[in-house]
Amino acid sequence: MQKSISRIRYSTVPVVNQFPWSSWETKKKPRLLILGTGWASTTILKNLKKNQYETIVGTVEYRSLLENTRKICRHSGAHYFAASADDVDFDKKTVLAIDTDNNQVEIPYDKLVIALGARNETYGIPGVKENVHFCKTIKDARNIRDKLTTIFEKASNPIISEEERQRLLTFVVVGGGPTGVRHVKVILIQGSAHILNTFDEKISEYAEERFKRQNIKVITQAFVQSVDQKSITYKVKKPDGSMETNVTDYGLCVWSTGIAMHETTQKLSSKLTDQTHRRALNVDSGLRLIGAKDAYALGDCATIVLPNIGDLILSQCHEDMHVEELNSIINQVTEKHPQSHSFLSGLKEYIEGFGDSPIKLQELKTWFEKTAAKTTTLPATAQVASQQGYYLAKKLNKLGKYDSKDWENVEERFKNFRYNHLGNFSYVGGG
Ligand SMILES: Cc1cc2nc3c(=O)[nH]c(=O)nc-3n(C[C@H](O)[C@H](O)[C@H](O)COP(=O)(O)OP(=O)(O)OC[C@H]3O[C@@H](n4cnc5c(N)ncnc54)[C@H](O)[C@@H]3O)c2cc1C
Repeated sequence: MQKSISRIRYSTVPVVNQFPWSSWETKKKPRLLILGTGWASTTILKNLKKNQYETIVGTVEYRSLLENTRKICRHSGAHYFAASADDVDFDKKTVLAIDTDNNQVEIPYDKLVIALGARNETYGIPGVKENVHFCKTIKDARNIRDKLTTIFEKASNPIISEEERQRLLTFVVVGGGPTGVRHVKVILIQGSAHILNTFDEKISEYAEERFKRQNIKVITQAFVQSVDQKSITYKVKKPDGSMETNVTDYGLCVWSTGIAMHETTQKLSSKLTDQTHRRALNVDSGLRLIGAKDAYALGDCATIVLPNIGDLILSQCHEDMHVEELNSIINQVTEKHPQSHSFLSGLKEYIEGFGDSPIKLQELKTWFEKTAAKTTTLPATAQVASQQGYYLAKKLNKLGKYDSKDWENVEERFKNFRYNHLGNFSYVGGG
């Protein structure tokens, strides 16, 4: 049976071993080390050309949600190593991992891919870690299923009080995003004014209306204060703006409010310069980890940092510009930073309105001042992670054809990552 690596206490870890596989030592091919086997890594593995790299995949879970990791590794010629990444020495280019027997293993790399995903955010609220069920891994899903079975058995025990039966059969879901909404049983607690608030307003309204018909109580503008073994305390904002404290007894509490960095990701972030993000590692538009050489990060554990697009464009502008001239600057910037595409298409629409008239610098500055806040980061979804994985596999395939001394030049010429949004989907029951 696979040991739960996350439970191993790192302080008891014995001596460091060098990674033993001879093919890794002989360095006939560049060594590519991939951390994690989620959406991002699996997509890389599936699209990586065989035999260009000596590849290792290290992960704490032996399966991704749907597929057996060993099978995917076999298919793409990668070694699989069941271990937890604990630290990275970016200067020495080594990863310190902890295997299933609690041994420390040092793995050197030529290229590193960090795709460790994220953990559940608890916001430091007392009792959350100890009492709720998270909804992230296969193990979490199994735990919820086991808990439900136990609850139903307990609730059908004829000797318990009616009050206790009601408590047991009260299921609370905290978080009204797409994940929380799918698993709603009875009470849904949501911090903002609507559930599914990243979707169109009509979709939120439809979901809320549907839940009402199904007797699911949706409590919006509610903020959890603490959770204990049998009850949850939350504050609700009333229409007059005042806050009311409520306590609800529950049998099962599922927590799906947001994401935060894993301990390892946090450690890596703290040792690099220019890593200022609270929830993810900063990468550039080519998914290169900022502050490190030959390392990439993608998926839920990473966020693309754009330079100040307004400054970048304005620095190339002069007084009384014409639409075509400005359009060409916008196109160049979009090509280099594809994530600014939707933001800059707004600018294109704005300048079209000038027709043949010249555009004043001040008019452009004002536009940027008004709209700068609208450049958004990508959502933490499988859709983003797998598109990034596909992009990185293509880039690694290209780099694999060159000697490592040429990597930097080749990479500079490689197009940056561009996200293609294919839509959102959330199951709200009934089908
Ligand atoms: C319940 C639920 C439903 C979702 N539904 C959707 C949906 O419908 N559509 C959508 O687009 N997105 C959805 N998402 C989001 C999606 O799952 C994530 O965005 C996606 O998994 C991110 O991919 P990733 O590769 O970055 O991370 P993950 O898929 O989380 O993979 C991270 C990997 O890193 C490994 N790992 C972690 N720590 C270590 C360590 N220290 N050492 C080694 N390995 C480590 C993990 O075991 C895992 O293999 C859902 C998420 C949840 C929780």
